[in-house]
Amino acid sequence: MAITHRKDTRPVRVGDLIIGGSDQVVVQSMTTTKTHDVEATVNEIHRLEEAGCQVVRVACPDDRAADAIPEIKKRINIPLVVDIHFDYKMALKAIEGGADKIRINPGNIGRREKVEAVVNAAKKRGIPIRIGVNAGSLEKHILKKYGYPTAEGMVESALHHIKILEDLDFHDIIVSLKASDVQLAIEAYTKAAEAIKYPLHLGITESGTQFAGTVKSAAGLGAILSKGIGSTLRISLSADPVEEVKVGRELLKSFGLAANAATLISCPTCGRIEIDLISIANEVEEYISTIKAPIKVAVLGCAVNGPGEAREADIGIAGARGEGLLFRHGEIIRKVPEDIMVEELKKEVDKLAEEHYKK
Ligand code: SF4
Repeated sequence: MAITHRKDTRPVRVGDLIIGGSDQVVVQSMTTTKTHDVEATVNEIHRLEEAGCQVVRVACPDDRAADAIPEIKKRINIPLVVDIHFDYKMALKAIEGGADKIRINPGNIGRREKVEAVVNAAKKRGIPIRIGVNAGSLEKHILKKYGYPTAEGMVESALHHIKILEDLDFHDIIVSLKASDVQLAIEAYTKAAEAIKYPLHLGITESGTQFAGTVKSAAGLGAILSKGIGSTLRISLSADPVEEVKVGRELLKSFGLAANAATLISCPTCGRIEIDLISIANEVEEYISTIKAPIKVAVLGCAVNGPGEAREADIGIAGARGEGLLFRHGEIIRKVPEDIMVEELKKEVDKLAEEHYKK
C-alpha cells in the first residue's frame, strides 16, 4: 500500500523537472570531485545519472569552480545545482553560468543590495533558490533564544530566510532543514511541513559511512516520508555518491514513491531452497538497477510458497529441482532450465520495461 504523499506544496521548476506540487520525490546527490576539475566532475555526474540520480549538486568554493559551471552544464543531462556559502559574486557567476538552481541562504549573503542582485539574477533566469538550514549552524539570535538547536529554532531560521526572499517577491524556493540527529530532523521536517508551503528537500546530514549512514538515513527519512513529507531528498554518505543515489531510490521504492525504478523482491532463503538464490538475487538486483520503470521482479528459492508469496511481482522466478518456474502475478507461465533461467528472467524484464517506456 502506497502512502498518501503531500501534494499541496508549491511546484518549483528545476531544469526540466518540477519539484513539489505532486507526490513525486526527486533523488539528488552531490559530487565529491573538485568542481574546477571538469573532466572528473562530469565523469562522476555521468555515473550518477546512470544510477538514476535526477538532480546533481556541485560545491562552488572559489572562482575556479564558478568558472567551470558552463562547461559542466554543457556536458551533463540532469539539472545542476550550485552550492554557495556566502559569496554573492559566486552566486551571480553560477547563475550566469547556467545553474538550474542555487543553494544559498539569503540571510548569510550580507547587505541588501547583494541579496537583491542574487534574487534578481535568479528571477531573470527563472531558477529557484534552496534555503539550507542546518542544525549545526543556526543563527546566533536563534541559538540564544532556544539555548541549543531545536526543531522550532530550525523552522524559525527557515522562515527568516524565506521572508527575505518573499519580501523581494521571490517565491521559487525549496527548503531543507538538516540535522545529524535523527529525532531532531524528524521533528524539524514535521513542523516545517505545517508552517511552510514550499517543497521540502530531505536529508540527514553527516549520517556516516555507507552502512551506518544508510541505516540512519533510512530511519530518519523513512519516518519523514511515512508522514507524506518531502519533495526531494539526498542521502549523505561518506562513500561514493552513486551509493547515495542507490539508497535514495531504494528508500523511495519502499514507500511506492519511485516512479522510475524497478524493485527486487527476494526471499530470505531457508532449508527448502533449490537454487543459488543469493548470487542470483545480487545479479538480478544489479541488472535492474538501471531500469527506469516501476517493475517488480521476484527471485525466490523454491516453488513451495514462492510465487504465491510474491503475488505483487510483475515477473519472477522460483527455483525448482534443476529448473526455474517463471511466474507473473503469482501464476506460473513456463518452466526454464536452471542454466538459462536468469537470462530468461532478464529478457522478460526487458520486455516489461519496453512496454512501459512505450506507454
Ligand atoms: Fe524458503 Fe522457498 Fe520461502 Fe525462499 S521461497 S524462504 S526457499 S520457502
